[in-house]
Amino acid sequence: MEFFDLKDKKEALSWLLSTGEEARKLRQAAHEVKMAHVGNKVYLRALIEYSNVCRKNCYYCGIRSGNSAVRRYTVGKDEVLRAARFAHQAGFGSLVLQSGERQDEAFIRDIEELVDAMMQQSGGELGITLSLGEQKPETYARWKKAGAIRYLLRIETSSPGLYTRLHPAGHSFQARLDCLKSLRDAGYQVGSGIMIGLPFQSPEQVVEDVYFLKEMDVDMVGMGPYIEHPQTPLWEYRDRIPSKQERYDWSLNAWALLRLIAPDINIASTTAIGSLSPKGREEALYAAANVIMPNLTPFSCRKEYFLYEHKICIEESHEDSRENIERIIREAGCEPEYFSQGNSRHFHARFQGE
Ligand code: SAM
Ligand code: SF4
Repeated sequence: MEFFDLKDKKEALSWLLSTGEEARKLRQAAHEVKMAHVGNKVYLRALIEYSNVCRKNCYYCGIRSGNSAVRRYTVGKDEVLRAARFAHQAGFGSLVLQSGERQDEAFIRDIEELVDAMMQQSGGELGITLSLGEQKPETYARWKKAGAIRYLLRIETSSPGLYTRLHPAGHSFQARLDCLKSLRDAGYQVGSGIMIGLPFQSPEQVVEDVYFLKEMDVDMVGMGPYIEHPQTPLWEYRDRIPSKQERYDWSLNAWALLRLIAPDINIASTTAIGSLSPKGREEALYAAANVIMPNLTPFSCRKEYFLYEHKICIEESHEDSRENIERIIREAGCEPEYFSQGNSRHFHARFQGE
């Protein structure tokens, strides 16, 4: 029997806003769906925050181009390859290269060469995910050809009106949608996601966003709470957003709702939920998530990839990070799945369908 009428958005809203025993019931139902469709294995994706140089100026983001207080960095090729080797030897199975957005040829070529070098170094075993923003279809195709298999581009919000309020001119909702389509056409496993608890965002909108991700037929999702940053334009509205506890509860409930309506996708337990509460990533894994991302960004750079205040994983060494991640997974009652690329079951099903 279904836990709730999956088409009923009013009911979904009441679950999104649930707390206490009701929320526990929702998360338990999602946990059972997760166990039935993707099991209790958690895939590990090493995260390398490759560069904080960004041509964009999103109003919520600490590394936006307009923030002159940021010391800009780009990790050297050797350091990326060293982290990728560590990830491969540690059995992480896959890696995410994330960065501020650049579209110049030097950047495109550097990424192409890095992906190719990581593939060669790992004998083609490392599953490479990119999260490098909006690019031309030809660029996505070049990086795919070099060996990347997954791409994460969050829609941030499915409301075009809210998207416009969160971005300056030249940042377009339609361009974002077009990129998601190009990624799919290029054959990537496509990931998207949203932020929860943004200024001007209603809980009804969060429900719409969750359904939007389902309708977009994405293979994977990385989403989480919005967290303020003092050097951003949205800081001014910090008293007009849901409390930290509300953003935490809504995020976990949104994860659970998503798992219920999209049972076979990959869902990441993201850093932002862990930054709101020490138990955040465990709770997300228990209810819905099946992917976690140990941070392997070189130490000297981590504190400069400061998207929002109180961001975690800034102080950990690689080994600490590995032990910590393993503890989080086991405390959630799950098992780490080492030496696996952790591909999305939804992608396989979609591919067979096509
Ligand atoms: N530049 C690429 C892009 O925008 O897709 C990738 C890097 S960007 C830093 C990755 C994600 O960080 C964004 O999609 C956004 O959802 C998230 N992010 C940025 N600022 C945030 C904030 N203040 N709170 C929570 N998440 C934030
Ligand atoms: Fe740049 Fe991404 Fe931050 Fe926007 S969210 S400012 S594109 S790094």
